Amino acid sequence: MSTSSDLELLSGPTASELPPAGELLGRFPLTANPEPADDETFRRCMDTLAFGTSFTDHMVRATWTPAEGWHGHRTEAFAPLTLSPAAAVLHYAQEVFEGLKAYRHADGSVWTFRPGFNAARLNASARRLALPELPEQDFVASLAALLAADSRWVPSRPGSSLYLRPFMIATEAFLGVRPAHEIEYLVIASPVGPYFPHGFEPVSIWVSESFHRAGAGGMGAAKTGGNYAASLLPQQEAAEKGFAQVCFLDATTNTALEELGGMNVFVVDDDGGLRTPSLTGTILEGGTRGAIIELLRDAGRDVREEVIQLEDLRAQIRAGTVKEMFACGTAAVITPIGRLAGADWDAIVDDGTPGEVTTSLYGELTDIQYGRRPDPHDWMYRLA
Ligand SMILES: *Cc1c(COP(=O)(O)O)cnc(C)c1O
Repeated sequence: MSTSSDLELLSGPTASELPPAGELLGRFPLTANPEPADDETFRRCMDTLAFGTSFTDHMVRATWTPAEGWHGHRTEAFAPLTLSPAAAVLHYAQEVFEGLKAYRHADGSVWTFRPGFNAARLNASARRLALPELPEQDFVASLAALLAADSRWVPSRPGSSLYLRPFMIATEAFLGVRPAHEIEYLVIASPVGPYFPHGFEPVSIWVSESFHRAGAGGMGAAKTGGNYAASLLPQQEAAEKGFAQVCFLDATTNTALEELGGMNVFVVDDDGGLRTPSLTGTILEGGTRGAIIELLRDAGRDVREEVIQLEDLRAQIRAGTVKEMFACGTAAVITPIGRLAGADWDAIVDDGTPGEVTTSLYGELTDIQYGRRPDPHDWMYRLA
C-alpha cells in the first residue's frame, strides 16, 4: 500500500488565520444578475429545499492559463457555460471539486465550516489531477463573494443550509492527452434542507466485493468526478437490491473497509472506543471525519485510525461487540448505519437503531455549525 508523502494530513489555515471576509470581498468583483429569480421562484426554491436542484442568482469564476496564471476573477449571473465540445474535461475528466455549506445563525449572520481545510484539499486534489492550485485566500474570497451577492438564498429553517460547490475544470479545446492549458474555477450554490427531514434514519449499506472506487496510486484521495463515475454502477446495483449506499473495499486485497462513494465510515465498539479506516492513499480525507476525530478525542474517547478487515468486523457485529456504525460527510453530516450486507451475508448492527455516540456526535457537530455551542477549534468562519 502506498505510503507516499501525499498521505500527510491536510492542514489549511483555521478561521482566525484567514483575513475577515470583508477584506477579501474585492477579489471577485460583482456584475449583478439583471434578472434574479422573481419572488415566486425564490419562494418555491426556499420552500422545497431539494438537494442540488435549484441554484442561486450568481456564480463566481476565474480562468487560468500558463501565461497569465489566474485572471478574470469575477462574480456574475448564474448561467450555462459556453464550452467547446472539444473541452478536455468532457473527454478526459480533468476536474476536481469541493463541497461545503453556509449556515445561518440565529442572529442572521452566515458562517461556513473549516473553509481553510477545503481550500487545502482542493489544492491537494488539483495536484493529483495536474490542475493549477488556487491561493487559499482566493478560495475563501470566492465563497465570501458569492455569499455577498446571494445571502438571501441561505435558508433559516432548522437543519437547512446553502450548499456551496467550488470546482475546477479543464476547458481547453484540445483532444491530445496532456494537462490542459486553459482551466476554469467556478463556485455555484444550492439551498438545501435537512438531510433527514423525518429525523435520524439508519441506512443499509451494501459492501461491494466486485467493484472498487479507487486503487493504489490512483485518484482515491482526490475529490474528483472520476471516482464518483466509478461508484455509480455499484450504487445502482445496490439500490436495486434495496440498499441506500455502497461501501467499498480496498482494491489490493479486497478485504479491508475503505469508505462509501462520498462518505467516510466509523465503527463504535462496546468499550466506548471508535475506529475508522486509516488514510491509505485510496480514501478521501473528509473534513467531517477529521472534526469527529477531534471532538471524540476532546471527550477523552479512544479513536483509532487503522485497517478494518471486513471479516473481523462481521465477526464482531455477530458477537455484539460492535455497538454502532455511521458514515459522515458534509451533505448528511452523520448517517447511522443500521445494516451491512454482501453477496452471501447480512448483518444488523446492534439492534439497527441509531446509537448514543452517533446521535450525540451529530448534535455536537451541528450545534457548532449553527452557532448553538462554542467553537473551541476555530472551525467557523463568518462569510456574511
Ligand atoms: C467529499 C467526500 C467525503 C466527505 O468529505 P467531507 O469533507 O466530510 O464532506 C468522503 N468521501 C468521499 C469520496 C468524498 O468525495
